[in-house]
Amino acid sequence: MHAPPPLFGHRIAATDGAARAGVLATAHGPVETPVFMPVGTAGTVKAMTADAVRATGARLVLGNTYHLMLRPGAEQVARFGGLHRFMDWPGPILTDSGGFQVMSLAKLRKLDAGGVTFQSHLDGATHRLTPARAIEIQHLLDATITMALDECTPFPASKAEASASMELSMRWAALSRETFVPRPGYALFGIVQGSVYPALRAASAAALTRLGFDGYAVGGLAIGEGQATTFAVLDATVPHLPADRPRYLMGVGTPSDLIGAVARGIDMFDCVMPTRAGRTGRAYTSAGVFNLRNARFATDDRPLDPHCACPACTRHPRGYLHHLFKADEMLGPMLLTWHNLTYYQDLMRGLRAAIVEGRFAAHAAAVRAGWTGQPDAEPEEA
Ligand SMILES: [Zn+2]
Repeated sequence: MHAPPPLFGHRIAATDGAARAGVLATAHGPVETPVFMPVGTAGTVKAMTADAVRATGARLVLGNTYHLMLRPGAEQVARFGGLHRFMDWPGPILTDSGGFQVMSLAKLRKLDAGGVTFQSHLDGATHRLTPARAIEIQHLLDATITMALDECTPFPASKAEASASMELSMRWAALSRETFVPRPGYALFGIVQGSVYPALRAASAAALTRLGFDGYAVGGLAIGEGQATTFAVLDATVPHLPADRPRYLMGVGTPSDLIGAVARGIDMFDCVMPTRAGRTGRAYTSAGVFNLRNARFATDDRPLDPHCACPACTRHPRGYLHHLFKADEMLGPMLLTWHNLTYYQDLMRGLRAAIVEGRFAAHAAAVRAGWTGQPDAEPEEA
């Protein structure tokens, strides 16, 4: 007899200040938090096999509804048994609702009270995304964690614009909630909007909490407002979210952003930064950010990061990685993506251990100091 799948939940194992160490229970296995999700845009974490993604320590990946609904199509993925089987990722998958990419990638998009009509950036075909369709697509993909459809309020926005946009997202959140089909171990998250206005963020958090979601995301950040404002919005938002539910900061960010957000009580993150940077020769390391294309690495016989156990760091000198990028060899982006994802996973694991041991602030300061030798400095190009 098989045991029934676990109910979705977030058990807090330890706290240190506002920072939390926990475990997400899902239908597709447990996930330790705080957690960073590699972005598997179109059913693949670019340049990585699924085994390689697992080898970095990642346990939860993100898929993009917008890309998958256009190609190959949600119904097509469902015919293959869902995204887990399609991309060989039996572990948990979170899918976004598609709203953010529609607004940033699609052509001739037209927003109305019921949803958004847009032309595919691939072939110009007309599509429509509504709260109900966004939920249906994510169900077809078999997402472990489904996101409600929202409008990512552009930045900057006046308070009146941000308020109208947030109210629309709250109506869509209610419609998403009505459409979602609950299953054991699966979850639906709502998304807090409200731009940089604390009162709007608090109102959004209250509206979502009244509806009741399995987790709560903070959206509409890291779109040009700057880190200090991102953190100020978190300070104004997180206290209004239920303590017993996971909190997800969408689309963030740099290692420095992650540390600051974990300190403010965020549990989950996703960002294209480590994968995108890896494809262009930029490495996040315990000593800061390196651009492997830089000529000074041509004769450098040292490992990329002596503290990292990934293949790029344990099997090759910096000079080889430099050569791969200069020669436009595809192994360069593959190795550096592997490294950057490993660095992000190691960073989160280190933060989690520090929370459990009650030394989060000292650990965070030591990590930051390693980047430049200067406590509290931003990671910089080395
Ligand atoms: Zn490495």
